[in-house]
Parts: sequence; structure tokens; C-alpha cells
Amino acid sequence: MDFLVLKDSVSSTPAFVLDEMEITKALEILADFRTQSGCKILYSIKALPFSAVMEIAKPYVDGFSVSSLFEARLADELVRQDSPQVLAGQGSIHLTTPGIRSDELDELSMLCSHISFNSLSQYQRYSETVQTQSSIGLRVNPKLSFLDDDRFDPCRQHSKLGVDIDELCRSVRLDQIQGLHIHNVFSATYFNPLIKTIDKLQQQLGIGLAELEWLNLGGGYLFGQIEDHRPFIELVNKLGNDFGLDVYIEPGKAVVGRAGHLVTTVLDSFVSDGVTIVILDTSVNHNPEVFEYQRQPELHEHDPDGQYTAILAGCTCLAGDVFGQYRFKEPLAVGDRVVFKHVGAYTLIKANRFNGYNLPDIYLSNALRVKKVKHYDYQDYRRQWLVD
Ligand SMILES: *Cc1c(COP(=O)(O)O)cnc(C)c1O
Repeated sequence: MDFLVLKDSVSSTPAFVLDEMEITKALEILADFRTQSGCKILYSIKALPFSAVMEIAKPYVDGFSVSSLFEARLADELVRQDSPQVLAGQGSIHLTTPGIRSDELDELSMLCSHISFNSLSQYQRYSETVQTQSSIGLRVNPKLSFLDDDRFDPCRQHSKLGVDIDELCRSVRLDQIQGLHIHNVFSATYFNPLIKTIDKLQQQLGIGLAELEWLNLGGGYLFGQIEDHRPFIELVNKLGNDFGLDVYIEPGKAVVGRAGHLVTTVLDSFVSDGVTIVILDTSVNHNPEVFEYQRQPELHEHDPDGQYTAILAGCTCLAGDVFGQYRFKEPLAVGDRVVFKHVGAYTLIKANRFNGYNLPDIYLSNALRVKKVKHYDYQDYRRQWLVD
């Protein structure tokens, strides 16, 4: 992506630009894993449930992974779009969530080919009802933590995610379910956690694994940033050979993380306690993880050797609506545009209109053009907040 061209190509800011070539690149890497290992790939749409992304992903993936009824409906619409004769629930749509509701279960089991229950009580309550339509699995908590930060760690103390592996060994007959689901890392750039996790699963469940049809390894790996593919390929091959398992992965961030960029314009600049403050026409509300996790997003214009420093801040009333301090070759002026890079995942889906500031326009870019494909306006805001 040529960010200079990009900045000039959008007709309005804030602009969330999705680079189609970058999405395709990520999908091609995943397709390579798929060819070499025989694993199946689902795009976890919660990272960015945008139809354009799902359209691009469709030829590369075996389906979608979802966490709720709305996501399941959207995935189903996309799966059936080209082939309406396909009955609801016939594409591969995998669901796991702590939040299954009894009043949604019928529809969920129509839409989802695979459901992994999150707890034994969820399983006991609902498995009878869905048994005929969906393939049933359990999310297992392998009790292996690879993260220092509890907020991202599905295996933290008192975890709410998945059936404790010891409990699973004690009280579940694997011939009663079709699959297991594991998801226990966050943005991992090496396969060690996966190898250790499968090791533990094999140690504890042994040949019982052969009773299953499938194993879903979840998301959480940044496949495009992992050089050595062999450990993964060997692992999946082995799971297929030793236990006859269909192995699924369901990446989200690995598909869209690097493909999304936010172009924003400087609205104001002034000095506060000796430091230049630059106010942008975006805010942490367009990228809430900046505030939630106190993470500083990459900025294209940042130059570590630049002489000028400035704190880039959002345009809302919250004092902590701040992206962080960056360095520049030239001071930023009102009207300049800057680009937050690689913010494709977990940004727009978490974005809100706090303070009444609109959501970014969405653009798609490829080698030939940058095209606006979505614009929100006052009517959208109004519809959300006026009593029906
Ligand atoms: C969030 C999540 C994913 C996708 O995770 P990424 O980090 O975006 O790859 C996949 N599966 C489950 C169960 C998840 O919770």
C-alpha cells in the first residue's frame, strides 16, 4: 500500500480503507497452510463482519466462524448468496459462545453446521435439542496459559471459556460428541503454544480422540507473520493420520488485521504543558482497543528519528482519548492527513458514535482504484437514538 497515494485518494475522513490485495495476500498464505496440511479454514467474522471481506474470503475458506445469532445470520446470508438453493445450515458455519440463549437455539441449529458448547451445563441443557441438525462439540479449556495479560487469556484463573480439560476427562464420553474446540492464544507469532496444547490434549484424552470427527484449533495465530510453517503442517497431518480428525482453524485478525488503515485529518494543534497536542477527526471510539488495552497503534508518518514530537489525540470529550506520542520529520499542520496502519481487526466492529461523532466511511482499495463503499450519516445516528 502506498500511503501517500492512499491519503490523497479518499474523498473524506475519517476513512477506514480496506486493502483488497492485502486481504488476498493473507488468504493465500492461509490457503497454502490448507493445501499443505489438509486443514479447513473458517474466517472468524467477529474481527470484521463486513460483507466485502467475506466475499473476498469465500473462495479461500471452507466457511465462517461465528459467536452469536446475528453473526450466524450474516454468515448464512453470505454462504447462500451465490447458491440460494443451498438450504439454511448447509455451509460450514461454526459457533461457540458462552451466550447461547434458549430462545435462539432453534434458529442457531438451523444456521450452524457445527456448535461447540462452552460448558457442560450448556451442553447438558441444549445438546438434545440440536443433535439432529448440527454437529456437536465442546469447547475445552486446556489449562495452558501462554499470556501474561489475563484480559486476553482464555485459560486464566476462573476462566469462563470452555470445559476444564480435567473435568472433560472425568465426565464426558467422547463417543457422545463429534468434536472439540480449543482457542487459547492471542496474536501468537509462533506455533509452540499449539504444539504444547495438542500434546496435553493427547496425553489426557489419548486414543479417545479417534472417537471424534473434528478438532477446531480456534484462532489467535497470526499465520502471515510466522515464517516456519512446518510445525503446523506436521501437527495437522499427524492429527489426521493418528486419529482421523478433520482439523479446522478460524483466524480473524490474521485475515484482516494488516489490511485495514484509518486515514484521519488534523483538526487542531496547540501546546499543552510544553508538548504539542494534535487533535484528529477520529478518536479512540473508532479503535477502542487503544483505550481498552492502552496500546499505541502504528502511524505511517511516525519517524523514530524525527525532531518533532506530538501527542495525537481524538476529538471527543474524554481526557484519555489519546493515541499516544509520535515523532515527525515535519510538524503536523491543520488539514494534514495521517494514517494509522494495520488496524483492520477489532476496530470498526467495536466502534461507536460517542459524542455524536460519525463512524468512518469505508473504502475498498486495489491496484486500480480506491472506492467508497459505505457511508453512515445523521439518519443512522438518529435511528439508533430516537424512540421507535
Ligand atoms: C476471537 C476468536 C477467534 C479469532 O481470533 P483472532 O485472534 O482474530 O484470530 C477464533 N475463535 C474464537 C473462539 C475466538 O474467540
